[in-house]
Amino acid sequence: MSSAGDCLFCRIVAGEVGTKVHEDDLVAAFEDIQPQAPHHTLIVPREHLASAAELGPRHEAMAGRLLTTAARLARDKGLSSYRLVMNCGEEAGQSVFHIHLHLLGGRGFAWPPG
Ligand code: AMP
Ligand code: ZN
Repeated sequence: MSSAGDCLFCRIVAGEVGTKVHEDDLVAAFEDIQPQAPHHTLIVPREHLASAAELGPRHEAMAGRLLTTAARLARDKGLSSYRLVMNCGEEAGQSVFHIHLHLLGGRGFAWPPG
């Protein structure tokens, strides 16, 4: 599990690598490097938290901004149907340990997830 010091998504947030499609005082967004759908954007907080398991009351504004940013990006992309995913923990499929929300769209999705 990475700490803020050696975290890839912290480096993207800081502008050291990658290209952001959105940033504000609480969150940033960028395209997933290995898209799983025609539209696949990641929305992350500026603050380093390893996963949703670390969220607490002081994160309410940031957690809300993750969702409202996803909704805005989806509207901007003209998506009326899409999936928001937050994997929490290795068994759930999390591979990068800086909390992030996946915005996936442009194709159908099965339920329940595999
Ligand atoms: P998760 O498996 O939920 O932790 O999602 C991590 C996501 O980060 C995966 O969809 C990866 O494709 C994506 N990813 C890994 N490295 C990069 C990168 N350098 N830039 C953008 N997305 C990345
Ligand atoms: Zn980080």
